[in-house]
Amino acid sequence: MNVIETRKLTYHYPDGTKALEDVDFNAAKGKIIALLGPNGAGKSTLFLHFNGILRPTSGTVQVNGESLKYDKKNLIKIRQRVGIVFQNPDDQLFAPTVIEDVAFGPMNIGLTEVEVEKRVKEALSKVGMEGYEKKAPHHLSGGQKKRVAIAGILAMKPEIMVLDEPTSGLDPKGASQILRLLYQLNKEGMTIVISTHDVDLVPLYAFSVYIISDGKIIKEGSPSEVFDDVTTIRKANLRLPRIAHLMEILEKEDSLPFDKPYPLTIGEARRKILEEFKS
Ligand code: ADP
Repeated sequence: MNVIETRKLTYHYPDGTKALEDVDFNAAKGKIIALLGPNGAGKSTLFLHFNGILRPTSGTVQVNGESLKYDKKNLIKIRQRVGIVFQNPDDQLFAPTVIEDVAFGPMNIGLTEVEVEKRVKEALSKVGMEGYEKKAPHHLSGGQKKRVAIAGILAMKPEIMVLDEPTSGLDPKGASQILRLLYQLNKEGMTIVISTHDVDLVPLYAFSVYIISDGKIIKEGSPSEVFDDVTTIRKANLRLPRIAHLMEILEKEDSLPFDKPYPLTIGEARRKILEEFKS
């Protein structure tokens, strides 16, 4: 079952920029879906349609099989179901302290003080930010800010979490902490949609991958299906994961017997190399 479905979604910004054209995008329940594309391809614009921040110029958006309705009551409901974590945490965090920030959403939907407190505590613990309650968000590191922004969304208990470039601007440790957290949340049943241009990370977590270029979806499938299509990958100004690129060079330039499909992760490459050595 798809929890998010867009059909022929087209969006033009008021200044005339055509940001999306005929986009068909599905997010299957309980999976991690990656939207891969270069800067300016339309990733953020697509995400802003998932909870009704933007309204299609034409085409449809469905959440849990229902077409989005854009009146205030329905938008409040949809924003509890679909939580969006923006690329820049400074666009999301605004309260003077971490605890007030995470509590803002739950308070706004009229939960009791006891429930708000419980949710904030749970959310901060999930993202590993207990002990930072009284800190000012602008005194936190990039990775910590991102985790607090995620906590703010988690406290709303959404069914679907949409994250715009969740690892951009983070150091490798910060990025892997975020990914481990998303992986954990997904294991607990949350559907997760991520945009990124980090092709090395996608095969590690994504169930399905969409490639967007110039506002159009130009490829979709499992990571191995998508990365098998090198022509499309390069057309979208992306590249193969480094490990696949290495295997491609070893095959083509050094005639080593590593043919397609190329391994996409270090784990897969290791197995393939060991198999070759043993045979
Ligand atoms: P991505 O998230 O993949 O980097 P965006 O969705 O931000 O891409 O942008 C898609 C296209 O829409 C780009 O051409 C961008 O310049 C344009 N765009 C984004 N935001 C606006 C806006 N508020 N007004 C006009 N054009 C915009």
